[in-house]
Amino acid sequence: MCGIIGVIQSKGAVAPFLHQALKRLEYRGYDSVGVTTIAEGKLHTKKDEGKIEEVHRKLNLDDLPGTVGIGHTRWATHGMPSIYNAHPHFDCSHTIAVVHNGVVDNFLELKEELQSRGHKFESETDTEVIPHLIEEFMDGGLSLPDAVREVTRRIRGTYAIVAMTARSPDKIVCTRDGNPLVIGRRDGASYVSSDIPAFLPMTNNMILLLDGEIAILTADDVEIRKLSDGSIVTREAITISWTADQAQKGGYPHFMLKEIHEQPEAIRNTLRIRKDVFDSAAKIVASSRRVFMTAMGTSGHAALAGRHMFASFAGILPSFELASDFPDTVYDTLTTDDCVIAITQSGETSDTIFAVKHAKRLGAKVIAITNVVGSSVTRFADRIIITQAGPEIGVAATKTFMVQLTALALLALATGMLTQYRSREFIEAKYASLNTLPNIVSETIVRNEEVARQAAEKYYNRASFLFLGRGISIATALEGALKLKEISYNHAEGYSAGESKHGPIALVEDGFPVVFVAPNDATRDRLIGNIMEMKARGASILAVIERGDGDLKHLADDVFEIPEGVEPEFSTMAFVVPLQILSYYMATRRGHDPDKPRNLAKSVTVL
Ligand code: GLU
Repeated sequence: MCGIIGVIQSKGAVAPFLHQALKRLEYRGYDSVGVTTIAEGKLHTKKDEGKIEEVHRKLNLDDLPGTVGIGHTRWATHGMPSIYNAHPHFDCSHTIAVVHNGVVDNFLELKEELQSRGHKFESETDTEVIPHLIEEFMDGGLSLPDAVREVTRRIRGTYAIVAMTARSPDKIVCTRDGNPLVIGRRDGASYVSSDIPAFLPMTNNMILLLDGEIAILTADDVEIRKLSDGSIVTREAITISWTADQAQKGGYPHFMLKEIHEQPEAIRNTLRIRKDVFDSAAKIVASSRRVFMTAMGTSGHAALAGRHMFASFAGILPSFELASDFPDTVYDTLTTDDCVIAITQSGETSDTIFAVKHAKRLGAKVIAITNVVGSSVTRFADRIIITQAGPEIGVAATKTFMVQLTALALLALATGMLTQYRSREFIEAKYASLNTLPNIVSETIVRNEEVARQAAEKYYNRASFLFLGRGISIATALEGALKLKEISYNHAEGYSAGESKHGPIALVEDGFPVVFVAPNDATRDRLIGNIMEMKARGASILAVIERGDGDLKHLADDVFEIPEGVEPEFSTMAFVVPLQILSYYMATRRGHDPDKPRNLAKSVTVL
């Protein structure tokens, strides 16, 4: 799930741009980095293992010559992070350079075949078969675009590929199947990248490239063709409203903290989505025999909270299945009368696409909730809801979680209007309350930033944490635990508070930190029972509570307070915020970069 960039321009060196663009893509992977440019009929390359700035300090990525170049920041799938495995990869003559995102499933047989014909390989990657195959086709007389097209007929797997050659330096060729690529255009320059922020400072005119298409970029033009029959595809450019500033840190030490602070605005923007988008998706939900939700990671926690919204507003309780296990759990029980709500912030999560394809094969309807226009999931969906978080660069999702919850709330309310499970007044009151969430989240951030920083100071070196809640707060607890473990590397488990006495309580001894998510809803009194059980065994209690809840304040060692009046169905949106901030300060206190947690990538495009 690496980051890819390519640029071709009529004048000026491309290397400094490639370097900056890769920095904007680094959230996609940072095992190694590499750039190749073409000048004076030759390829010029710098690449090495490590994060971009480390490699730049060592090699100076900015001084490569040439007006055309490609770059890559890697998340290794085949072969260790190393200089040899760093992209770009080359053919034997070192005149063809390729960057690739994805996996070539049949690379072993292709490699053996190519080696038997004398090709020499320099890496352990699956990617390297691609430039060698291009070499054979070009040596046989094909142009670069035709050679790339032939390569797509030989390789199996998922890919986004960008290729160029010193033999015809006036073009860059790219193609995709299953992994993202977007194209940017402005006067005298064309760009291709895994994600829009990479070229956003240069242009906000974007052209989508779809699976099964090939694009030929020159400094003055972009030509898109179908791989199947070579026919020309005409596609209008889309104007992106994100600004380059939005994709930068804007004065915050880390993207994660900036993105936590952007949550009120992200909710507000999502609340402005046209009502008919939700009404049309709600029609499918309301008329389905069974409703499923599927997602992974943080999006899965949004789904778990979303189930409560559908149950309460519409009288429908969707089943939740992890996307990675969806086909192996629902088997072929889905029918054309069922619907699946699939949630993925990037729209590229392979597990979720896998689940969606299974659902489509059986004829079920799919509603996709994603933050990225034109992403893969949108092509399989019957209805698409694009959340409005803007670009999220921190690997640990924060504002995209918030907008997923907002979108689910709006969809559940629209469904409730149709099922009439509740009165119109009830639903209208919930809409009104949802509109107060941006202010509530703002206030929550302001009130808890210092409290969370101090709590991190107190607890940062504890080995293990439990996060507990009941009802909808189980989703909040799961998300709090996930945030903590993924960026601070403290062990953390999210659990149902009710279930905690059936196992996890065995871990508790003097000073063991237990975080309770304790809104003032129907679960509160039973949750107090669980707090007492943990206290009796010496646990240190951290609690997220409603402001003014004196009993809970008295019971806890550390409290995070949320403004009064959050409706129970929306409580995750407010109560998760102090947990996000706590994780952020735990990570930084422990000396970790919260924006780039080890072993993780933002967009998980492998199964
Ligand atoms: N499979 C390729 C590799 O391991 C590309 C991985 C990626 O998408 O970053 O180098």
